Amino acid sequence: PEAITVQELAKRMGERGADLVKSLFKMGTPVTINETIDQDTAELLIEEFGHRINRVSESDVDIQSETDVDAAETLKPRPPVVTIMGHVDHGKTSLLDAIRGGNVQSGEAGGITQHIGAYQVALKDKSKITFLDTPGHEAFTDMRMRGANVTDIVVLVVAADDGLKPQTIEAINHTKAAGVPMIVAINKIDKPEAKPQKVREELLQHEIVVEQMGGDVQDVEVSALKKTNLDSLLEAIALQAEILELKANPDRPAEGAVVEAKLDKGRGPLATVLVQRGTLRVGDVIVVGAASGKVRAMIDDHGRQVKEAGPSVPVEVLGLGAVPSAGDQLTVVENEARAREVATYRQGVLDKKRTTAAPVSLENMFANRA
Ligand code: GDP
Ligand code: MG
Repeated sequence: PEAITVQELAKRMGERGADLVKSLFKMGTPVTINETIDQDTAELLIEEFGHRINRVSESDVDIQSETDVDAAETLKPRPPVVTIMGHVDHGKTSLLDAIRGGNVQSGEAGGITQHIGAYQVALKDKSKITFLDTPGHEAFTDMRMRGANVTDIVVLVVAADDGLKPQTIEAINHTKAAGVPMIVAINKIDKPEAKPQKVREELLQHEIVVEQMGGDVQDVEVSALKKTNLDSLLEAIALQAEILELKANPDRPAEGAVVEAKLDKGRGPLATVLVQRGTLRVGDVIVVGAASGKVRAMIDDHGRQVKEAGPSVPVEVLGLGAVPSAGDQLTVVENEARAREVATYRQGVLDKKRTTAAPVSLENMFANRA
């Protein structure tokens, strides 16, 4: 039952059927393109071609090419992508606004700050930091569940007058599970009842040893309200980013992840996409989750129209045929026929997810097409 035709497998791998047949012959399995092969053989073949079976999430399966891993010499430094997490009311939104506010240059051409789900700030040395504007661990875990590991650094906000709370601990656990480095922003230090040292001690109980306690997790005392020490926080992020040596190849077709999406009455589906590698350009044919389309226009976090967006740059994309979901992967494909094909396949996986109780595993993905 767990079988797939060579033709179908070739299609999903983006390889020529004839090449698969040739490989199968070498592997001692002489078959024609219309015959079925079992799952083990299919998996061998996938490996043979340097592809990997990518479980986008527990209930979604896709095949991606591993042969298109970017060569070291094509990689260039890219800005870090930061998510702010912490307990409700500890100041996540205030901190995001304060950081952004301090960075908006008045009089900038068309410089109207626009909420697109993410924004970039520039440091004095002109290096940049990308902030995801959707704080909270839900957004972080939702995206991770969908296979979109976009966050490079987590800033954990802890109110100095309140200490560690349940959502702080959840955020710590999610960050650890994701293996993402953390910086602690001890907020609300303007308050007379602020006890930053108590926060550091409480963090010890969760194996977070901050620098002030002799550890290597950077901690910065801030006040989002009074805009105190925001520069130090940005410097801490920049330092952490330097250690991570974040790089991507900007000179290839773009791949990215949806940060948020909505339907706009006048402009149709809008998706804020964080480019992860390559450069996204107006005119590119794209598949985003189960939606496809052509990039008609792109708008940056200042409301300006842009023609292209490179790694770690967030842009709002116009031109999709449907509204995707946060965490969906954007892929640039060679033409519209291919876009529809990929989108239809992904839609099929989604439909199946909805109509069957059993999660779509690799096994039933193959059974499904037999
Ligand atoms: P969030 O739920 O984590 O996004 O927290 P908010 O940013 O909405 O802040 C919750 C409350 O704390 C609001 O009333 C803010 O004005 C206040 N707040 C945030 N940061 C500071 C700060 O640095 N100092 C003081 N005194 N209040 C703050
Ligand atoms: Mg908030």
